[in-house]
Amino acid sequence: MSEYDDSLTGAGLDTLAVRAGCHRTAEGEHSEALFLTSSYVFGSAQEAADRFSGDAPGNVYSRYTNPTVRAFEERIAALEKAESAIATASGMSAILSTCMALLQVGDHILCSRSVFGTTTVLFTKYLQRFGVGVTFVDPTDLTAWERGFQANTRLVFVETPSNPLCDVVDLQALADLTHARGARLVVDNCFCTPALQRPIEFGADLIIHSATKYIDGQGRCLGGVVAGDQDTINDVLAFVRSAGPTLSAFNAWVFLKGLETLRLRMEAHSRNAQALAEWLQRQPQVERVYYAGLPEHPGHELARKQQSAFGGVLSFQVKGDQAAAWRVIDSTRICSLTANLGDAKTTIVHPATTTHGRLTPEQRAESGIADNLIRLAVGLEDVEDLKNDLLRGLS
Ligand SMILES: *Cc1c(COP(=O)(O)O)cnc(C)c1O
Repeated sequence: MSEYDDSLTGAGLDTLAVRAGCHRTAEGEHSEALFLTSSYVFGSAQEAADRFSGDAPGNVYSRYTNPTVRAFEERIAALEKAESAIATASGMSAILSTCMALLQVGDHILCSRSVFGTTTVLFTKYLQRFGVGVTFVDPTDLTAWERGFQANTRLVFVETPSNPLCDVVDLQALADLTHARGARLVVDNCFCTPALQRPIEFGADLIIHSATKYIDGQGRCLGGVVAGDQDTINDVLAFVRSAGPTLSAFNAWVFLKGLETLRLRMEAHSRNAQALAEWLQRQPQVERVYYAGLPEHPGHELARKQQSAFGGVLSFQVKGDQAAAWRVIDSTRICSLTANLGDAKTTIVHPATTTHGRLTPEQRAESGIADNLIRLAVGLEDVEDLKNDLLRGLS
C-alpha cells in the first residue's frame, strides 16, 4: 500500500498527477525510484514458491511486475478514475493486448473510421486473419454506429477528438448504445489525456493511451497503457505477462515525470492551438480550419461538455491543391516536419501523403482528408514565432 493512499482520498487531479503511485523506499528518496532490474531476489525457497504460486504478494520478474512501472500504472488509473491500469511497450501494444485479452474467433469490433492509421491496419490486416471482424463507421453519426452493431460485436473503439479533423464523438450516447448491445466501449484518449477528458465519467469501459505522445510530452520514449475495471485489467495483464509487450522501467519513470506537468502542458498546448486556429482563420490563403475550439466547428459544444480544453492538434486547408499545402510545409523553419505529435516542439505534416497515405483516394475523400489539408500538432513555442513560420509559405 502507498504511504499516500489515505492522504490522497478525494484528492484533485493535480495532486494525483504529482503524488499517486508514490511508494517511497527505505532510502527516503523524494523523486520516484527507478528500478532497473529484470528479476528479484527471494528470502527463502519457501518465499520463492509462494510468490510463484501467487500465495504471497511481491515481485518475481519484470515482465510480470516492476515497482516503477507499477507506480506509473497506479498514477494513470487515478487520473483516469479507473480501478486499475496495465502499462505496455507502446500504444499499439496496448490496443493489441486489449483485443487479445477480450476477443476470440467470431467476434466483431465496431470502430470509428477516424482512428490512428496503424490501429486500422492492426484490425483489418491482422485481427481479421484470426477470425475477428471489423466494421468502420463515421464517428459523428450515431445512427451509423447503431446500424453497425452485430450480434457478435464485443468492442466499440473510438478516438475523440479525431485525427486530423477534430471530429468529436458523443461518449455518453455511444456508451449507452454500446452497453445496450452488451459490448464494451474502448476510448483511445491519446489526444486529450486525462488532463482534459476522462471518458470513464461518460460511461466508457476501457481507456487506451499511447504514452509516447502527450504523457511523455517531449518525444523521448515509447509506451502505452490500458485503464479500466479490475477484472478486465487482470485479463489484459495476463496477456501482457504471457506475450511480453511489457513497458520498460526507464520509460515508465520518464512518463511519471511527464504526468507531473501534464495539465500545465495540455493547457499551454490548447492555448497555443486556439490562438493559431483563430489566426489561421483570418489568413486569406487559408480555406478552412478544423479545431473544436472554434465556435463554428460542429463538435464545439460537445467538446465543451466532455473536455476541459480543446487540445493541441488542429488542421487546415490552404487555397489550392497539394502543391500549395506542400509549399507551406516546406517553407517552415521552426515547425518539425514529422508525423509524431504530443511534443513540446510543434510538428507539421501532410496527412494525405503520410499518415493517411495508405487509404485509397475514395476513402480519403469519404474521411475528409483533402489534398490541401495540413495538420499541426501545436507545441509550446511562442505562438508569434509559429505564426511567422507558417506565414512564410502562406504569403
Ligand atoms: C501514436 C498513436 C497510437 C500508437 O501509439 P504508439 O505508442 O506509437 O504505438 C495510437 N493511437 C493514437 C491516437 C496515436 O496517436
